[in-house]
Amino acid sequence: MTLDSAQSMSVSMSTVAPHGSLTELADGVHAFVQPDGGWCLNNAGLIVGADRTVLVDTAATEARARRLRDEVERVVPGGPDFVVNTHFHGDHTLGNGQFAPKAVVVAHEGTRADSEEAGLGVCDIWPEVRWGETPLMLPDLTFEGSMTLRAGGLRVELIDVGPAHTAHDVVAWVPERSVLFTGDVVWSGVTPFVLFGTITGSLRALDELRALGARTVVPGHGPVGGTELLDATGAYLRWLQRIAEDGVREGLTPLAAASRADLGAFAPLVDSERLAANLHRAYAELDGLPPGAPIDVPTAFGDMVAYHGRPPACHA
Ligand SMILES: [Zn+2]
Repeated sequence: MTLDSAQSMSVSMSTVAPHGSLTELADGVHAFVQPDGGWCLNNAGLIVGADRTVLVDTAATEARARRLRDEVERVVPGGPDFVVNTHFHGDHTLGNGQFAPKAVVVAHEGTRADSEEAGLGVCDIWPEVRWGETPLMLPDLTFEGSMTLRAGGLRVELIDVGPAHTAHDVVAWVPERSVLFTGDVVWSGVTPFVLFGTITGSLRALDELRALGARTVVPGHGPVGGTELLDATGAYLRWLQRIAEDGVREGLTPLAAASRADLGAFAPLVDSERLAANLHRAYAELDGLPPGAPIDVPTAFGDMVAYHGRPPACHA
């Protein structure tokens, strides 16, 4: 390769949005990972049995959901029978329309209500993103507690671990392959985001997930790993609690506490500006707000923009 071609390659690679791809993690169990896992770049999962297929989460934009559909079709012509929404956020749910109504969309009863309330609101946060056609396709099949789907010989246990990242969170556990799809209860190389959920609930949920003893963990955002991802997410959340406790004791606003905080080991995490919004949740919880209860989202987002010096970047 000549220097010229290497340079033009690096230019074209940096100007083209990275696309997700499907990787087989264990027999019949695949992960769809979208680098770099930042805002709206979520992961999805595919469990393929002899006669039934389950997709866990979709993608944010029409183009990304089509990409996911193409990748799924490569493995399962005809697409999945079930689509699970781990929680209501648009990056995990707006691609439902690429699979439903042929596929049955499954979610926690509370996630359906949250999705209905949120609508396509995420598109207004980042108007510059080419969202394409992302019709709101609400879950058809809802449950509370836990439910097991069966994909041939593979059980897909949908376990309600919320409130955690939001008021209602479901993980998908495939015990026969020891693979756990966590949704946004777990993050990998990406700053956890708990504005819509709870820190204490997230820590409790992480304990529940640890007890499953998964060999492979597919986080909601960022690279696939093992149970060290649960520990890393927990470490950030406990650090967040300490920053909040110090801030409250000293009478600082969440923004002031964020601005003063030394990110330390967490500095390399993608989208570090989430600290400012996370502190709003941490402060509210210290003030007695129940886990997952509604909070003033616009003010928290405003503080995140102020902390960051610009709006958070969504590369969807
Ligand atoms: Zn989320």
